[in-house]
Amino acid sequence: MEADGQKIIKLNIGNVGAFGFDPPDEIVRDMIKNMQNAAPYSDSKGMFASRKAIMQYTQQKNIEGVTIDDIYIGNGASELIMLSMHALLDNGDEVLVPTPDYPLWTAAVNLAGGKAVHYMCNEEKDWMPDIADIEAKITPHTKAIVVINPNNPTGALYPDELLKKIVDLAREHQLIVFADEIYDKCLYDGVTHTSMASLANDVLFITMNGLSKNYRSCGYRVGWMVVSGEKKYARDYIVGLDMLSSMRLCSNVPGQYAIQTALGGYQSINDLVAPNGRLTRQRDLSHKLLTDIPGVTCVKAKAALYMFPKLDPEIYPIEDDKQFAYDLLEREKVLIVQGTGFNWVAPDHFRVVFLPNSDDLTHAIERIARFLDFYRKK
Ligand code: PLP
Repeated sequence: MEADGQKIIKLNIGNVGAFGFDPPDEIVRDMIKNMQNAAPYSDSKGMFASRKAIMQYTQQKNIEGVTIDDIYIGNGASELIMLSMHALLDNGDEVLVPTPDYPLWTAAVNLAGGKAVHYMCNEEKDWMPDIADIEAKITPHTKAIVVINPNNPTGALYPDELLKKIVDLAREHQLIVFADEIYDKCLYDGVTHTSMASLANDVLFITMNGLSKNYRSCGYRVGWMVVSGEKKYARDYIVGLDMLSSMRLCSNVPGQYAIQTALGGYQSINDLVAPNGRLTRQRDLSHKLLTDIPGVTCVKAKAALYMFPKLDPEIYPIEDDKQFAYDLLEREKVLIVQGTGFNWVAPDHFRVVFLPNSDDLTHAIERIARFLDFYRKK
């Protein structure tokens, strides 16, 4: 459609820089200044200074005992999610992944020969993971649990008590905790984020983070992974991680130059998530406009860049939500992602990104409302 010259409003992907959110000036200048130095391969796990800056960040987040060796820099967290699953899983191994999820996790588990077993997050409880469901789904084949906090696609932020319950289960069943914390600075209404790995030293944690979201630089492809906690039984796994890491030689080096400056400099994300900051305003606006639509309910995001509204199935009896998304795109030129794209269990949700400016968000959600009205009467 775009090739035909049509203008689409995109509420479908958290590509922060594409919506007029600039990356911090100093990290851009840092990369440009170091372009010449960035020509050689780096250490396969990443440059020392960059990993040192990440190590200091883990100290700020109260994760104990992390050394430079425990840190792997990748071409975005995405590459490390893939790599960490490939190193871990034998055919038939199970990994607990939330539903709804960030679908790369499910895909990475399956591609590595494992089986993603989905545990429910409960919309009535602000999308909190259902501890009883997690417990019920642990089997002798379960190797690990993935916790995405702050959450994509729901915008939820999990309280410490709940995180501790998951850590207790991991300890009891010797599961590795994969903590995806890539939105740990996108926090609204004064809430704070706790790194899961700060909650125990006797459980193995793999924490994922990166520059894409907090520093509005998705395209620079900078992510990292930190191994912490109980490493006693993980020696072979760590050998596997080191091997896969060296097989790709190293990650994008210009991007690595941005890390130290980003983590140590002025945290301009705080301005965007402040009470009157652009992200907070856009979250509030999109939540209001969405919930004004008859038959649409939506838990307001506490964090991250997304919301996952529900369409009342009595009013909108959708059978194929992917088709629903295509029909909306065709008719109203608004792109959303259907809920089942996040491995959600029923065709009654969709995800929106509240990154477009207020005018575009207003137009887009007005068009969604118009489409739903048409859909209901059709
Ligand atoms: N994890 C989550 C929860 C995400 O939403 C994303 C991107 O949207 C990623 C990981 C991947 O980020 P990166 O750009 O670092 O590969």
